[in-house]
This record gives sequence, C-alpha cells and structure tokens, in this order.
Amino acid sequence: MSTIVNDLFALQQILARGDSAPAAKMALIQPLRERVPPAILAHFLRSLACGRRGVSLVRHGVCSECHIRVARATIHSLARPTDLHLCESCGAFLMLAPEEMPEAVPAPTPLAPAGPRRRGRPATLVVA
Ligand SMILES: [Zn+2]
Repeated sequence: MSTIVNDLFALQQILARGDSAPAAKMALIQPLRERVPPAILAHFLRSLACGRRGVSLVRHGVCSECHIRVARATIHSLARPTDLHLCESCGAFLMLAPEEMPEAVPAPTPLAPAGPRRRGRPATLVVA
C-alpha cells in the first residue's frame, strides 16, 4: 500500500509544477489506473480538482495540508506502511515525511524460552 501513496505523491509533485498540458497530465495518470484501485485514484484526483493536495506529508506529527495534529497511533502506522491512512481533518492520504521515516524497524524479538518446569512441592529450607 505504501507504493500507492508514493506513486500518488510523485504524481502530485509532477502535476504541481503546472507546466504540463492536460493531455500530458492524462498520460501521467494513465499508468496509475492499472495499479491504483479506482476509488483511491478517484479520491486523489477529486482532491486535486478541488485545489487541495491528495497526499499530505506528516512532519513533526502534523498534517502539512491542514496543519492539524495527527493521532499518535496513526503516525506509528505510517512508519510501517501496510495500509492507507486519511487525515481525519482534510481527507488527504497521509505519508510520513522521508526524513522522519525510521531507518530500520527492528523485528520483534521472540520471547525467551521458559526454564524447566518444576513439578511437585517446592523445596523447603531446613534450619539446623
Ligand atoms: Zn490534514
């Protein structure tokens, strides 16, 4: 899912330059129609048509489109992109700014095996 947001962000950067003709814009959008689900692409294009950003970077915990703080749980999810997240305020797809992306997410460590189980009565202390 992160590649979809990355692709949409790259397209947004190209379209923001404003130097491409409508036919050239359609040529840029066409390859995405094969990879991006129609509902997601429609939401993205509708945002652009309304003059907003379709993809917003999250920097210092704040959406760069509407400047509203993003929930901490959402920011943690953005660090491990497996799903799409929308800003609850402006509706833009959220993407963690590249400089805030963690270098490598450590794999969870397996739990240490338990020691041998003791059966029976616990040892008693004998005082002489
Ligand atoms: Zn926002």
